[in-house]
Amino acid sequence: MALGSRVLGSGRGFLSTFSLKRQSYCQASRSDEATPSISPCGAPNHGRFEDLSRRRKPMCLYFTQNRCQYMDSPEHLEKFSHTFPELDPVVLDAARPLPRQPFDKFLVLDLEGKVEILEFPVVLLDAKTLTVVDRFHRFVRPCELKGSRLQAYIAGKYGRWKLERLWEDTAIPFQETLLAFEDWLEQHSLRDPESHLLKNSAFVTCGNWDIKTKIPEQCITSGIPLPSYFCEWINLKDIFLNFYNKRARAKSKAPGMLSMMRSLDMRVQGSHHLGLDDAHNIARIVQKMESDGAVLSITAKRRGNRVEFLFQNRV
Ligand SMILES: [Zn+2]
Repeated sequence: MALGSRVLGSGRGFLSTFSLKRQSYCQASRSDEATPSISPCGAPNHGRFEDLSRRRKPMCLYFTQNRCQYMDSPEHLEKFSHTFPELDPVVLDAARPLPRQPFDKFLVLDLEGKVEILEFPVVLLDAKTLTVVDRFHRFVRPCELKGSRLQAYIAGKYGRWKLERLWEDTAIPFQETLLAFEDWLEQHSLRDPESHLLKNSAFVTCGNWDIKTKIPEQCITSGIPLPSYFCEWINLKDIFLNFYNKRARAKSKAPGMLSMMRSLDMRVQGSHHLGLDDAHNIARIVQKMESDGAVLSITAKRRGNRVEFLFQNRV
């Protein structure tokens, strides 16, 4: 279904046909990119996907943000992976075809950062083949938090993985993150050039918080309008609750990423609450649910400053 053809409410001018690219924000200069703290030798272990580490090298988190400067260093390439881990292998069975999905692609988004957004990772999943098409990943620099409060916030969030320096080297402001994200959407022809809505694709999030609450809050903090493509999304928890009704009823509380994975007998890969890893695991849940027969349709729509939830039985 073509999202671009939908007519949306435009209360408070919020969601008319806005895109950051239409504004006159200065594009970040790429010439002042920080030098990665990872040197070809003696690099800190900032690797992810630990339970795959027996088979995999740690992921280069500069590479995930298009900023690795050591792609020609054999030592660095020996030490860090520059290919993303695959999702789980899926055997497509002609006798048991996958359900027809309302979208061709899913954009699995899992933000990190409660005070301000610190990480913006997206896994682009092909709904028909259940494979990853691409990933988008940026660390995000808060706009209001500064100085020692920011340092403490980053240490609290990323210190456990020793990623503070890497975050410091690479984090960019939220509006630059969205500009880069919009370029990436265009590369994949996922955005209607006129309406600026998503084309044949939809965001999938684990809960409503990311797009209902945090993105609008961050837009206000950053002083930018809310882009129109954040007008609707699929809350995977609602799909899970309705599709696996029996299992969900047995639990008193709403399923989270970990409890959904437990219910599906899946093991977590990587570090929970590192956005890139969580988006990877949520994409694996989407893959599993779709191969079980679930249809991922829109669960929430923003109409002006109101959000309408489309499922009766919801978290
Ligand atoms: Zn690298």
